[in-house]
Amino acid sequence: MNDRRNTPRVGQVKEITSLSNPIVKDIRALSQKKNRDESGTFLAEGLKLVIDAFEQGWTIHTLIYAKAARGKQAVEEVAAKTVARGGLVLEVSEKVLTAITRRDNPQAVIAVFEQQLKPLSGIRPREGETWVALDRVRDPGNLGTIIRTADAAGASGIILIGETVDPFSMEAVRATMGSVFSMPVTRTSVADFLAWKKRAGASVIGTHLKGSVDYRTIDYKARPTVILMGNEQAGLPDELAEGCDRLARIPQAGRADSLNLAVATGVMLFEARRHLLSFAETGA
Ligand code: SAM
Repeated sequence: MNDRRNTPRVGQVKEITSLSNPIVKDIRALSQKKNRDESGTFLAEGLKLVIDAFEQGWTIHTLIYAKAARGKQAVEEVAAKTVARGGLVLEVSEKVLTAITRRDNPQAVIAVFEQQLKPLSGIRPREGETWVALDRVRDPGNLGTIIRTADAAGASGIILIGETVDPFSMEAVRATMGSVFSMPVTRTSVADFLAWKKRAGASVIGTHLKGSVDYRTIDYKARPTVILMGNEQAGLPDELAEGCDRLARIPQAGRADSLNLAVATGVMLFEARRHLLSFAETGA
């Protein structure tokens, strides 16, 4: 049975079935970066993801759910919370949901959230922390997968360097599987990253196909660590490679030239985690 307090009152939910509705048009426009930048918002799909985002204090602008989801307790609860926090709730047809998400079989619940980026100046890596820095990452699937993997590996956040893909694009957000709400993300330039590195007291471990150090031999617990990954096509530019404390290589077998960026990041992060955990267990 639904608790009445968890049910938004009639009039607080707008029913929309037309694709030409201006609110729907604005939400659909969020598929373009320029509109996301202008509004400072982005779209995320899935009930669980929306509930997680609420729990982590993200600001919701608009909750959109399928007509078929009306009356479901969990949906009514997030709708009531959205209204209580001043957000808008839309009940829409399947056609509208499909148009917004640009997918057949869309999720029954999607939401528009306010973007959050952390300023680099506020990041002070602490003992035992590992951060990931990405040079000009281009593929939204790679970026989302890296955010998700960093979350799973216990990393502290992501530093985006230079012209990178938008972490709030629908494809990147999808690939994070919700970790976009728990991983701090910051954006910076090469010059600002190198200046920050000097005062942050962290060890920057660059990864490079010509790295001189086997990634398994590095002491990841000596200082807070930033693992720096190169661009998908070009790898790390000299300016960044020269600013690293170590350049690590993941030895490969077979004929592949290199690992996929997200896979290489996962290998590095879980190696750092293994070192940090064994340190915590043995105190050695
Ligand atoms: N053609 C690029 C190059 O020459 O560096 C390949 C880039 S690779 C697809 C993307 C990034 O993943 C690299 O810049 C590096 O950070 C990391 N990476 C991939 N394989 C690696 C390996 N075996 N050792 C160290 N880093 C690796």
